[in-house]
Amino acid sequence: MALNRRLQSADSRDTLIRRAEEITPLPAKPGKDVYTMNWIVNQHSYTAQRVFCIGRNYVEHIAELGNERPEQPVIFTKPATSLHPVSDPVIPLPRCGELPHYETEITVLVGKKGVPRTAEEAVSFIAGIGAGLDLTLRETQEKLLAHGLPWEICKGFDHSAPIGDFAPFSGTAETLAQLRFTGEINGELRQQGDSAKMIYSIPELLLAVARYWELLPGDVLFTGTPKGVGALAPGDRLRITDPAGRAFEWRLAER
Ligand code: ZN
Repeated sequence: MALNRRLQSADSRDTLIRRAEEITPLPAKPGKDVYTMNWIVNQHSYTAQRVFCIGRNYVEHIAELGNERPEQPVIFTKPATSLHPVSDPVIPLPRCGELPHYETEITVLVGKKGVPRTAEEAVSFIAGIGAGLDLTLRETQEKLLAHGLPWEICKGFDHSAPIGDFAPFSGTAETLAQLRFTGEINGELRQQGDSAKMIYSIPELLLAVARYWELLPGDVLFTGTPKGVGALAPGDRLRITDPAGRAFEWRLAER
């Protein structure tokens, strides 16, 4: 109500418009269109819906960032427009000017709509398994964390989720507990992940997400990063291998 009253005064309205202009800087660097992602897995077409991400799911990674072990899965989201495909080999530098850190993670593609009630049921929701990068503006994240503020800007910016294609999945909970993947920067192995070391298994993560969101075909889950995360510099080459052994590569560069 108070805001409405203020908007009724033309003077105030002009002031508000002027202030909005002052606080909306032009992009420091030219933009690059974001993507609407679509995957074909087992002859089914999936358009990306929500991107759910998990924080703090590997003990050794929690230790390297000095965080606390969570009492339940730490869930956050990125917009679907943060996804960046393999077909575009250049990940543009964030417009805000801060350099991102990399986190290599197993990704899960949800194949059907509904709310799983058991771990076994959750497994049946998985259409594909792959790998991706959860790019993070770590300095901003630390500031936000210190003030208890939301993570969107440090996690969900454009092109913050480079993602490999999905391999069709028809395995079991046991299969999901033995997935290996790697992350290399400029040819140097930095991250070696194994889903056996997750605090919460992939079915448990889907159950945790489904407590709040009904799952939809095209939802993507990033399952958390193992240790070995680090900063990136312009020109860095990123290469990840997914649990099916396929490699995906990008370069971080100016557009
Ligand atoms: Zn992550």
